[in-house]
Amino acid sequence: MLELKNIHAVICDNKKEILKDLNLTIGDGEVHAIMGPNGAGKSTLSKVIMGHYSYKITSGDIIFDGKNINDLETYKRARLGMFIAMQDPTVIDGVSSIEFLKEAISEKTGEKVNLYSFIKDIEKNIKDLNLRDDMIHRSVNSGFSGGEKKKNEVLQLKMLKPSFIILDELDSGLDVDSLRECCLNINNYLNENPKTSVLIITHYPKILSYIKPNYVHVLEDGKIVKTGSHELALFIEKNGYTGIKEMVEE
Ligand code: ADP
Ligand code: MG
Repeated sequence: MLELKNIHAVICDNKKEILKDLNLTIGDGEVHAIMGPNGAGKSTLSKVIMGHYSYKITSGDIIFDGKNINDLETYKRARLGMFIAMQDPTVIDGVSSIEFLKEAISEKTGEKVNLYSFIKDIEKNIKDLNLRDDMIHRSVNSGFSGGEKKKNEVLQLKMLKPSFIILDELDSGLDVDSLRECCLNINNYLNENPKTSVLIITHYPKILSYIKPNYVHVLEDGKIVKTGSHELALFIEKNGYTGIKEMVEE
């Protein structure tokens, strides 16, 4: 599904290299987690995968479903089925969530949305996510609590039906009940769409106890320095990142 080959990427503004020879292969239906200290380059990685204009790949290749997407615009990546739930969701004043979703779906599919099934779908997902009914008529993320913003990302995910999902610290700013609700909704989506792949960026093993990863990677200074199983996440919670490179999994 997604292959990153020897990726080097810089910040366009200051040419600082953040990703340094990064390799990662995510197969269909696989869940990968990335952990790593603050400033390691996790959010940069997620934005480079999505083609954010602030970052430039200086060498290496990103392959999605067999196609090189190094130079593909973000909206075209979204059309291919790529999706990111952002660490800090953007507020869009003056655009209601319902209008936003309707436009986004029709931009993604290239077709006018069927209003009847759209409304039915949105109502079901709002209920499943335990969101307030009136939120879809409010401006996107405007005045939302931290938890509502993250749930709104999951609502977008479920409505846009991606085949590749990045969750960039979905668990930050979420209380335990909201985290569980978000994860149950994502798991339902994954059960219904088993070929969907997920990249979970997190500091905590909790989210990984709901959405079980096939692999856990540690990113440090723009490189993956360690790959393991769910156990690695538990080890990190206990011991931190020091000495992780030398650690041997039992
Ligand atoms: P993480 O998500 O692992 O905490 P980031 O990818 O957000 O790390 O950031 C990695 C490093 O790159 C940090 O030092 C951060 O300050 C810097 N950085 C990322 N994006 C930008 C940007 N657009 N402008 C300037 N510095 C940036
Ligand atoms: Mg980050």
